[in-house]
Amino acid sequence: MLTDGSQQKVTSLTCQLAQKAIENAREAVVFTNDKGLIVDVNEAYMLITGYQREELIGKNPNVLKSGRHDRAFYQEMWRQIKEFGSWSGEVWDRRKNGEIYPKWLIINAIASEDGITTGYVGIFSDLSEQKKAEKKLEDLSFYDSLTHLPNRVLFRDRLSVGISIAKRDKHQLAVLLIDLDRFKIINDSLGHNVGDELLEMIAQRFLTLGRESDTVARLGGDEFAVLLPELSHAEDASVVAQNFIDSLQEPFCLEGHCINIGTSIGISIFPCDGVDVDGLIKHAELALYKAKEHGRNHYQYFSQELQEAVNDQLEMEDEMRQAILNQQFTLFYQPKISLTTNKITGMEALVRWVHPEKGLIPPDKFIPLAEETGLMIPLGEWILETACRETADWSKRFDDSLVVAINLSAKQFQSAGLLELIEKILNKYQLRAKNIELEITESCVMEDVKGALKTMKAFRKHGLKLAIDDFGTGYSSLSYLKNFPISTLKIDRSFVMELTSDSDDAAIVEVIILLARKLGLDVVAEGVETEAQLEFLREQCCQYVQGYFLSRPLPAEEFELFLQKNIDF
Ligand code: C2E
Ligand code: CA
Ligand code: CA
Repeated sequence: MLTDGSQQKVTSLTCQLAQKAIENAREAVVFTNDKGLIVDVNEAYMLITGYQREELIGKNPNVLKSGRHDRAFYQEMWRQIKEFGSWSGEVWDRRKNGEIYPKWLIINAIASEDGITTGYVGIFSDLSEQKKAEKKLEDLSFYDSLTHLPNRVLFRDRLSVGISIAKRDKHQLAVLLIDLDRFKIINDSLGHNVGDELLEMIAQRFLTLGRESDTVARLGGDEFAVLLPELSHAEDASVVAQNFIDSLQEPFCLEGHCINIGTSIGISIFPCDGVDVDGLIKHAELALYKAKEHGRNHYQYFSQELQEAVNDQLEMEDEMRQAILNQQFTLFYQPKISLTTNKITGMEALVRWVHPEKGLIPPDKFIPLAEETGLMIPLGEWILETACRETADWSKRFDDSLVVAINLSAKQFQSAGLLELIEKILNKYQLRAKNIELEITESCVMEDVKGALKTMKAFRKHGLKLAIDDFGTGYSSLSYLKNFPISTLKIDRSFVMELTSDSDDAAIVEVIILLARKLGLDVVAEGVETEAQLEFLREQCCQYVQGYFLSRPLPAEEFELFLQKNIDF
């Protein structure tokens, strides 16, 4: 048992310790009397609020009020303190220098032994640093760090909220997906720094459009999205879409470059095109693909027909996968005739799909899809292998100088390991490199001139011949042509077709033949359908011709008969 004296000593010691602890605490502490007027504060209180002790004693702590909370807030706070003896919560106050800051405040009533309130103690900590950190974290996960636009996560969140409101208020909303045309080319050729800067500038322009309530987000890469949360008519979205397209009309000037960039936009509308986040985004994506097919600067609404077309495509893609496994493809060969010797010097391999129900499907119907879905790579391999195998057989039996022309799709031409693959196939069938010629189009080269040039050079080094197909329809410039290590120009069918009826086309063909001669290239005219066309080409000293007038593309067995007969044209 402690005596009264020692009890007193302990109590006074505890008091001293408590006082020290309060004085040095990191939390601000304030004591008030029963009327709520300040009796004392600690160091931290002065540090956080910016006031000195003398300025505070006798005042009501509401000198710190920020004005952010209404009367009801403080009434409720005092009601709780009176009823439960304490309150805690987040409060925004004002420092002496005027700055507003958040704090976590705990207020306790101090009562005497008989339960009468004698005063209050308030303890709080400054939350501003913590808030800043939280905000930064939030920014990082909800905003794109480059453009500071909302990112995909936040966009989806806003869309989800927008859908709920639109459902409740029975109005429409629109999702616009925006994809920049040709951004990758700019990024690759001018460097990522320029690409990043361009994206920032584009984001700035986008931000000036639309209303405050709209969300403009960057979903990643060169993909942006806009949410129009309240729409009276679905057509209103097209006005916004057109504004976004128009906003990029003015070129961007960056590090001495004047950059023109276009955009394509896909639109989906709630509720007719989808009633949830995924549905609306997916359908806007489909519309975007369709818009891109139209070329630059188009917008496109999602529609049911679009969905059906997509379903058809998906079905076809599936069938095509099966067709590769089940060997439903076959090659036709169209003879190529030399106008000097009037004999067959080679043939072009043209792929066909022998569909079990739909019959013979021409390549135009499935090659674009095969390109898009990546199926062109296995299909292309099969084409290369089959063409080489059949040609090797014919060259042994009929004429070892036969040259087979094989079409390469853009994806195939750009694929890694193509040269190795060809080498392997040539070895396997004991065919020489000079027995094959690879046909590529101008546009496939122009997509990536540097890369194409490198590939072409490697091909030539291995003795493979290269032809530019559909020549005259693309946009390759003459200066490029001079530098390309190609062996042949194939004059596009569209010029040959009108050769004897359109003097412009006749002139173009003449010039191409002349150009080829000057550059030391072979020239082939394709799509020759009449004797008159053939005679014209003969007069112009075109070396090779191909077309229905001489022969349609033939199945391998029929083409073989052709070779056997060794016809003189
Ligand atoms: P292309 O390379 O320009 O092939 C020539 C096309 O013209 C062939 O159509 C051929 O049948 C057709 N043709 C030939 N002579 C005449 C003629 O006198 N008049 C008319 N009106 N047409 C003629 P096809 O076989 O339907 O091929 C179309 C396109 O599909 C080809 O155009 C080529 O770009 C692509 N293609 C065909 N086979 C392959 C292939 O094995 N691989 C790749 N990547 N593409 C292929
Ligand atoms: Ca061709
Ligand atoms: Ca062609």
